[in-house]
Amino acid sequence: MNNRDISLLAVAGVQQLIPYKAGKPIEELERELGLTQIIKLASNENPLGPSPKALAAIQHALPELALYPDGSGFHLKQALAKKFAVDVSQITLGNGSNEILELIARAFLTPNLDVVFSQHAFAVYPLVTQAAGAHAIVVPALHYGHDLTAMAQAVTAKTRVVFIANPNNPTGTLLTQTELEAFIGALPETVVCVLDEAYFEFVNQMAAINSIDWLAKFPNLIITRTFSKAYGLAGLRIGYSFSSPELADILNRVRQPFNNNSLAIIAAQAALTDEVHLHQTLANNSAGMLQLTEGFQALNLEWIPSAGNFVAVDLKREALPIYDALLRKGVIVRPVANYEMPNFLRISIGTLSENQRFLHMLSDCLH
Ligand SMILES: *Cc1c(COP(=O)(O)O)cnc(C)c1O
Repeated sequence: MNNRDISLLAVAGVQQLIPYKAGKPIEELERELGLTQIIKLASNENPLGPSPKALAAIQHALPELALYPDGSGFHLKQALAKKFAVDVSQITLGNGSNEILELIARAFLTPNLDVVFSQHAFAVYPLVTQAAGAHAIVVPALHYGHDLTAMAQAVTAKTRVVFIANPNNPTGTLLTQTELEAFIGALPETVVCVLDEAYFEFVNQMAAINSIDWLAKFPNLIITRTFSKAYGLAGLRIGYSFSSPELADILNRVRQPFNNNSLAIIAAQAALTDEVHLHQTLANNSAGMLQLTEGFQALNLEWIPSAGNFVAVDLKREALPIYDALLRKGVIVRPVANYEMPNFLRISIGTLSENQRFLHMLSDCLH
């Protein structure tokens, strides 16, 4: 067998996979263009960095690194259970919430099953679906958001999983409590409903959704969340889910025994207690969102109103040349052509000075 044919040994879904394209790392752009003072507004990371409490906890834990982590995540689960009023048995910890999405695919999908999700929804849903060889039913979006009526109609007898991102990435669109609750309640009980709340901390109080309350009545619901966004721990890779104890038990069977590293567990636990850092993060986000959208308005650009820590701006022309021009000025943002949004760029909210620099450079590139 020659080298070319060796890849044909992979299962069919994997052979056709196009890998997830992450935001460009700062160091890569430095290498490529020899630039310094680069800003990255491309991966919805926390521009304020991690909580100082998390950093102190990591420092304190370093001497223990020769030991395996607590594979059950006992203390972090206790803290999450207390904070969100759930039982420890309802919690699953993941190496990022992305890992939980993957565990769900591994535990529930086979090639003869369907998965329903929306157009413009988070790119990991098609990836895990395809890797499992399952069939994706992509439902056309409504005003860039999830069309729940159409999604309900798209469910077939073979549908085993539905993915919903609320708020959605990269569009920032938000569903209401009422429509979401009705949608989940109307799903066949044989469909696992994954509600991806990676950005729930950023949703303002008035629009907030108490999805945890639904766990008592929807045994088929899995809510996924992460420490990567509001908590500023993307580099450590830690996320979690809440579900019925039965679904948590299933996910626990397919996860690796030590899927979370010890520093991630300890940092997450400390970050959860840092209300000050979370408050500063949310305040910076609101101010930055206003700053960016006012800037877009001044440039005569439109954007999709966003409930997250990012905003998709419509350049009304192919966005890739502008993305490239911004890179050459040391500003990394995110093109979203792979989400069928070729005229948009997704901008993560940065610090006020980063946002200002981005707007200045964008103006230069457009004129
Ligand atoms: C960022 C993101 C995640 C999770 O990221 P992890 O770092 O793996 O926790 C999940 N869903 C959406 C919609 C996201 O944007």
